[in-house]
Amino acid sequence: MKNIILLGSTGSIGESALDVVRNLAGECKITGLTANKQWKSMAGQIKEFEPAWAALADSEAAGELAKNCGSQTNAQLLNGVTRLADTPGFDEVDIVLSAIMGAAGLESAIETVENKKTLAIANKETLVMAGEIIMPMAKKNGAQILPVDSEHSAILQSMRAGNISEIKKVTLTASGGPFYDFAKDDLPNVTPAQALKHPTWEMGRKITIDSATLMNKALEIIEAKWLFDLDASQIEVVVHPQSIIHSMVEFCDGSTIAQMGTPDMKVPIQFALTYPDRKPLQLEDLDLAKLGSLTFKAPNTDKFPALALGFEAAMVGGTMGSALNAANEVAVEAFLDNKIKFTQISELVKMAMEKHTLINKPTLKEVIETDAWAREEVNRCL
Ligand code: NDP
Repeated sequence: MKNIILLGSTGSIGESALDVVRNLAGECKITGLTANKQWKSMAGQIKEFEPAWAALADSEAAGELAKNCGSQTNAQLLNGVTRLADTPGFDEVDIVLSAIMGAAGLESAIETVENKKTLAIANKETLVMAGEIIMPMAKKNGAQILPVDSEHSAILQSMRAGNISEIKKVTLTASGGPFYDFAKDDLPNVTPAQALKHPTWEMGRKITIDSATLMNKALEIIEAKWLFDLDASQIEVVVHPQSIIHSMVEFCDGSTIAQMGTPDMKVPIQFALTYPDRKPLQLEDLDLAKLGSLTFKAPNTDKFPALALGFEAAMVGGTMGSALNAANEVAVEAFLDNKIKFTQISELVKMAMEKHTLINKPTLKEVIETDAWAREEVNRCL
């Protein structure tokens, strides 16, 4: 039995993770749940999964949860997310699955690794900001970090065919998002409603916009660098609209191993929870004959400048990932609020990166200060 804390349980990944826990009945137990505001859906999760505790970051929502659910559950209901190490049953926890959106996931990820627990990480923003700090910390503490992002899970799965030192390059696949074939001149006029319609994946709002700008791939380039100890020059991106090949590794002898499957986040989530084993999962079979063809295109960095920004941040390292991530979070929010045009998201991130004074080998404090600086800088421009 693996005991799991699920951070961000009410989101798209959080709900898929709970589906996986249902599928793994008897092998996994939810010890703790966290989310931000969605107290009604949290109440349903508490009833079904009977965790030892549940917390909402938003204090008003936490109050509603306590009022409406407190007398019907034995779970300890926390107002605000306290230190994970202080939560009931923490000593017995095996895996912390972080499905929080954005920089809000940083603190709990660090705490997980500090406490030598396995971190299953969907929250890529944390690795983008502080991979340079978290990865060595995990190594020193003997804490495992397992990717949940489908591309990085694909790399982990492909890596079973070789060693890190034998990697020549990794290729991250990108669906291209809803606007890949749009003319460059049409991109400034796309609306949030259009951008929120992803062709292959059902996801939270922020990552859906990141997929449309290709900033999601930029974040994944940086994430891959830290997770697999790669040089930025060993990472490539290819546009693969069908999202069947989730990513691939080319080894030094020219063999390329790819991981393929029906696009469903339950696959990488379950692999992270059962790693290194595989367990059955009922999904639509992959029918290649029905699909007919898998296609690939070189990414267009002229139309989608975010990709180049991702490569640059991966190359220079230090605090640049934190600057890129924070600027992007503020810009995406502004786009969703109709304050800026779609193309201004990448422009604002570029501006923040150009103005940023890089700190090499930063401390956590410097990473957090950079995050605050970039948010302020972008807000000033809005
Ligand atoms: P969602 O927006 O759907 O969900 C985000 C979750 O985080 C919600 O449960 C939200 O709570 C919670 N949350 C937000 N702030 C806090 C906080 N301060 N403390 C605790 N919980 C908080 O996002 P996704 O599930 O789509 O994405 C989550 C992460 O996974 C992102 O980093 C994303 O990049 C990554 N990812 C997502 C994929 C996908 O298919 N969705 C694929 C690969 C990676 P509430 O609902 O109450 O607001």
